[in-house]
Amino acid sequence: MRAAVFQEAGQPLTIETIPDPVPAEDEVVIAVRGAGICGSDLHITQHAGITRPGTVLGHEFAGTIAALGAGVAGGWKVGDRVTALPLFPCCACEACDAHMPNLCSHGNWAGVTPERPGAYAEYVVARGSLLQAVPAGVGDNDAAMIEPLAVGHHSVARAAIRPGEAVLIIGGGPIGAAVALFARAAGAKHVVVSEPAAARRDRCGLLGATATIDPTSEDVAKRFAALAGKRPDVVFECVGAPGLLHQAVELVGLRGRVIVAGVLFEEDRLPPLTAFIKEVTIAYSQAYTERDFAAVIDALARREIDATPLHTRTVTFDELPAAFEALRGNPLECKVLIDPR
Ligand SMILES: [Zn+2]
Ligand SMILES: [Zn+2]
Repeated sequence: MRAAVFQEAGQPLTIETIPDPVPAEDEVVIAVRGAGICGSDLHITQHAGITRPGTVLGHEFAGTIAALGAGVAGGWKVGDRVTALPLFPCCACEACDAHMPNLCSHGNWAGVTPERPGAYAEYVVARGSLLQAVPAGVGDNDAAMIEPLAVGHHSVARAAIRPGEAVLIIGGGPIGAAVALFARAAGAKHVVVSEPAAARRDRCGLLGATATIDPTSEDVAKRFAALAGKRPDVVFECVGAPGLLHQAVELVGLRGRVIVAGVLFEEDRLPPLTAFIKEVTIAYSQAYTERDFAAVIDALARREIDATPLHTRTVTFDELPAAFEALRGNPLECKVLIDPR
């Protein structure tokens, strides 16, 4: 099969022919109809030493079942439209016992190491137990975006939003936009996105944000108070940059909740006294569970959400290496999908 292979930081992906995958006992092979380029794919290939040469990236995908291992349960058959959690949990730890495969620290992800090739390819392997059916009413583009939507859904579930609440989202990239979508669907009255890039602010306006703020030219606290008449009940940090958790704690209201969805790879500072005197709750949100995938698919199938503004364009295999490099630091783009067919 053809696949886009990571060589080294600073070099474009190369399109190569590699062996077709063969499913293990508990695995399925999915013929990819759409795969998403994720900010984390860009991040882990930016610097030397994070991702090893030979890795096929891609953990956001949907397609049809091409082959099944003999031990896959659930009545799946070749040709079924599916997506899957791109996880290979160990199935023997505390997290796995509690149906939190996202928190298994002994497992692996598709598209992060050479041992588990991802979906920048004609075929990708998934764990049979983590398959999710894609109903006929959910199109291929939406299906390929179920994974990033599930990240947003999980963050909103962690916040336990109550109808009428006021929400501030720091960062209007794909995850911030997905959080806006599900925060609104959860009944938040004010969903305000703080984002420096105008194109991202505009897109969040199409995806459920009731207002947007440019933090480079406006005072976020004052503007939020003018919009909502109070401080935020919930602040989502959807960027993962130093200082933003501090800012979130400063901005949130009394007994407010701060949900951290952005990934930060370095130490950061927090104002403990500010958090203390407001009794702030800080909760981290990592990836998703099967329930998030199921809820996203249900919301798409019932037309309760419209995720189409997230998708900005689709590229072919041949266009992929250049498109991948062009995405670095380009806020005009949101979700770029690969169609390997
Ligand atoms: Zn991702
Ligand atoms: Zn485990």
